[in-house]
Amino acid sequence: MSRFIQIVEVGPRDGLQNEKLSLSVDEKLAMIRRLEAAGAKRLEAVSFVNPNRVPQMAGAEEIMAGLAPEGLGDLEHSRIGLVLNMRGWERCVASQCDEANVVVCATDGFGLANQGATAAQQVDALAAIVERQAALGGPPISATISVAFGCPFDGEVSEDQVVAIARQAGSLGVAEIVIADTIGVADPWTVRRRVEAVRAAAPDTRLRLHFHDTRNTGLANAFAGVEAGVDVLDASVGGLGGCPFAPNATGNIGTEDLVYMLERAGFETGYDLDALIAIGRDISERLGKAAPASSLARAGGFPA
Ligand code: ZN
Repeated sequence: MSRFIQIVEVGPRDGLQNEKLSLSVDEKLAMIRRLEAAGAKRLEAVSFVNPNRVPQMAGAEEIMAGLAPEGLGDLEHSRIGLVLNMRGWERCVASQCDEANVVVCATDGFGLANQGATAAQQVDALAAIVERQAALGGPPISATISVAFGCPFDGEVSEDQVVAIARQAGSLGVAEIVIADTIGVADPWTVRRRVEAVRAAAPDTRLRLHFHDTRNTGLANAFAGVEAGVDVLDASVGGLGGCPFAPNATGNIGTEDLVYMLERAGFETGYDLDALIAIGRDISERLGKAAPASSLARAGGFPA
């Protein structure tokens, strides 16, 4: 198997956002530069949320200013900014992010709690952002459907709910749709069915998958996604992060764990596994973790 699987490094955003300790702007910049040197060509660098609500994500503008602009933004090579609304989009454009990842929650419960908007209102916001980009320019837009497998407020999320949003996002012409298991409740068989359903609803839009390992199904879900033909997956170095709705839970699937699993099977990822392991260990120590959440950071690779 020589198929290339693109792994989007989300540690600097999704990982750090769910850690108790916050890193300084300089520490975040050093982390991003190290990850890029280790092979991260597409990386979620910042989040344009209100730093009063999410203090871990403070300094987005300073971080983007500290990175030499690449200006590529072709979904193969980008620094991504997370965007929840038009204000976030404006900050993302002003900061010269290469790509905007606009989040639409699959449920009203999660949307109202996190973004003060129902699922339908968030789809409207996505449409307004796409329209603004078409009129005034801006980076390519990927759309994440969060809580796409289950919601801490509304419970089970049906395939129909996810498909309805995917169909609308696809018809808006976004560059990519991300199906996200925000709270880590998916199983591999549901992943396969949901990938097939979203692909049918948005046949011209590239798919990406985002898994949390909250209940130890993260790598199995990644396997199911790759088997279903998805070529783009999110992961977080060191397995950083957590789940705000499951205290003591682990975070995203570890980038080094995913790289190891895929490259062991013959896929290409473009990452340097040893460098990733070293970053995962260092950042976990800096964040005061007793041990890194990723298996590879604990066990090392094979063969040595
Ligand atoms: Zn996440």
